[in-house]
Amino acid sequence: MQAGNVLKTLHRLTEQVAKAPDLPTALRTLVTGLAQAMDAEVCSIYLPDPEVAGGWVLRATEGLNPESVGQVHLGPGEGLVGLVAREKEPVNLESAQDHAWFRYFPETGEERFPAFLGVPILHRGQVLGVIAVQSLNAGRFDEEHATLLFTAAAQLGGAIAHAQVLERLVRAREGKAETPEQAVADGSGEAFLAGLGGAQGIAIGTAWAVYPPADLSAVSDRRTDDPEADKREFRTALAAADQELAELGSTLTERIDEEDADLFHAYLHMVRDKGFQRRVEARIDGGSWVQTAVRDVVREYIGAFENMDDPYLRERAADMRDLGRRLLAQLQQAHASADGQYPDDTVLVGEEISPLSMAAVPEGQLKGVVSATGSAGSHVAILAHAFGIPAVMGVEDLPVGLIDGKEVVVDGYSGRLYVEPSPRIRDEYRRLEAEEAALTERLTELRDQPAVTRDGRTITLYANTGLLADLDPALRSGAEGIGLYRTELPFLTRDRFPSEAEQVRIYRQVFEAFGERPVTIRTLDIGGDKLLPYLPVKEDNPFLGWRGLRLSLDHPEIFLTQLRAILRAAPYGNVRLLLPMVTTVEELDQALRLIERARAELMEDGEPAPELPVGAMIEVPSAVFQTAAIARRVNFLSIGTNDLTQYVLAVDRNNARVAKLFDHLHPAVTHAINSVVDQAHAEGRPVSVCGEMAADPVGALLLTGMGVDELSMSAGALLRIKWVLRSFSTAQTREFAELARVDECARTTRARMETALVDAGLGSLIRAGD
Ligand code: PEP
Ligand code: MG
Repeated sequence: MQAGNVLKTLHRLTEQVAKAPDLPTALRTLVTGLAQAMDAEVCSIYLPDPEVAGGWVLRATEGLNPESVGQVHLGPGEGLVGLVAREKEPVNLESAQDHAWFRYFPETGEERFPAFLGVPILHRGQVLGVIAVQSLNAGRFDEEHATLLFTAAAQLGGAIAHAQVLERLVRAREGKAETPEQAVADGSGEAFLAGLGGAQGIAIGTAWAVYPPADLSAVSDRRTDDPEADKREFRTALAAADQELAELGSTLTERIDEEDADLFHAYLHMVRDKGFQRRVEARIDGGSWVQTAVRDVVREYIGAFENMDDPYLRERAADMRDLGRRLLAQLQQAHASADGQYPDDTVLVGEEISPLSMAAVPEGQLKGVVSATGSAGSHVAILAHAFGIPAVMGVEDLPVGLIDGKEVVVDGYSGRLYVEPSPRIRDEYRRLEAEEAALTERLTELRDQPAVTRDGRTITLYANTGLLADLDPALRSGAEGIGLYRTELPFLTRDRFPSEAEQVRIYRQVFEAFGERPVTIRTLDIGGDKLLPYLPVKEDNPFLGWRGLRLSLDHPEIFLTQLRAILRAAPYGNVRLLLPMVTTVEELDQALRLIERARAELMEDGEPAPELPVGAMIEVPSAVFQTAAIARRVNFLSIGTNDLTQYVLAVDRNNARVAKLFDHLHPAVTHAINSVVDQAHAEGRPVSVCGEMAADPVGALLLTGMGVDELSMSAGALLRIKWVLRSFSTAQTREFAELARVDECARTTRARMETALVDAGLGSLIRAGD
């Protein structure tokens, strides 16, 4: 078989395996498909033996006696399979029987097949299993076969790992606990998927899968409850795709020659193909969910086109795939915006959750978030925090499609996800949930109390916000103002830049809600992981790229519109302006000039143009070293510890693989903060902290000891932090900061501080990692 065809087959197989409802089906699909693709009489797969550590068991076969599945066990380092696993390399033999490691199992009937080729299935450096193909013709498999099978095993590793995770979860619940890599037993046999605590809290709810937009392979096998509604949805999507293509077509015909335009019409033909429509609807009538039906019919067409002899028709497979994506995009848009479809206790589960998908869930129905990527520093985790819901991030190998619709428990403290929990686990978490609610209730008594240390030093506590929806929690938390209003959030949830008038309306609501209390409004900070759907930017290193103030200065029209909107709304409140991602003083000077220009424009129109206090964010190492120069140009400074930690430690705040290195208590980060506070105070400027460090009880205590004047955090954390500050004296916080100055690693600092919290009776605030 040609390499190109084999790769296509592999691609299709990977998709099928990824979508299989359980591990046995995944493995059966795999061995049948591979035997065919490799033109081998036998293809078998061996996975770890749950009974014997280091051993292997035959889990699926095409060509050997089917009765031997589950019966053939190989001890550690036993047989050719053991050899492949030990060496982590392919073993290719002309005559397997002559090899010293060959072990014969009469039940398989395998002595008939001399040629043997075995490859390991590797995933993240671990041998998950072994795939072996066998043939009657000695010397049948050459180097190319070995490379192809190896490629297949490498591609399939992730999909098999997914299926294994789920099987382990089920086995563990049935009391057949193993010690799996990912579904880690919690000491009592109950398995969970391990991730990272993203936002603290507990949720028990129903998983709702969020798929990457328009990815056919990510659509799960779902049944429909209402075929008629699904068919209507399908026809609407088809009409929308038709219109989209017709519009594209008419613009294209002006630009391309006749022949190419013909090709394009062939494309449009497919959307209007009645046969296609009938097939999809027949599947829906047969019980398939609309997206599943579209996926399957598109795949049938792709398969049919790929097998055609005519090269022109073969090319149509790619068009069909594209058409499938367009249709899916239309359907997913409808799916995401269909209010009322989300369960009342929605837990979003996905490879990557976007702020947009969170905002799409109707108010009050979003209970938690679980993401395969990201960490506590990701904006999605911060947003979850702002919503007061737990988030578990970085759950690698999260089998999204398989969890969809199932009951889940999200533990945002320890980063655990339980799927279909046992009654024991559910009861335990219900109890914890009730305890949390009771603590929150008790803390509301502090709402109108000042945030003062035991000896009377006042620390101003502000809330972070960015959505109108989280204004209410911010007000209820007794925040003395807003320390960080992230203006990009209203930009992210739209399909175009909001107009000046729209922005004035939004900002005015925020300013009015807080009246006399200060609202610190930060200018647009897009880029990094906050991309606007209508301003696509492709960069290799987005966090080191075009973000924050850099983008605003390159687009003065966007920046000036925003500045004018803020200035226009400013008379309705007590407003301070904050500039993100300041890297050089030139940038800052340029931004200050643009602020003046926006004021001048308003004055020309005869409108009031208040002179607002301006602050700079210190979140880039260069700004730490230049704090004094920056401070001299502005009225206040605000440290963004999320980005500062990311840039000082060179640890991507979104990357789960390096999340354990992301720690705002790292001595390099605390030294940087000490230096900023000292330089700013020497220039007579106040310093606030608006990163997540301020919401961490340990972080808040240290920052207070370092002399930080204001702390700003998610509303959900505010009363807890007030409780912490009121439990210690200024002298104690200073001592904590002094001791931390000489610590050589974050672990030492955290351990000391946590002991202090426990001793002060605040142990319930640091349940993380229990
Ligand atoms: C920060 O970087 O700490 C910060 C507050 O800004 P953001 O999280 O929005 O980047
Ligand atoms: Mg930042």
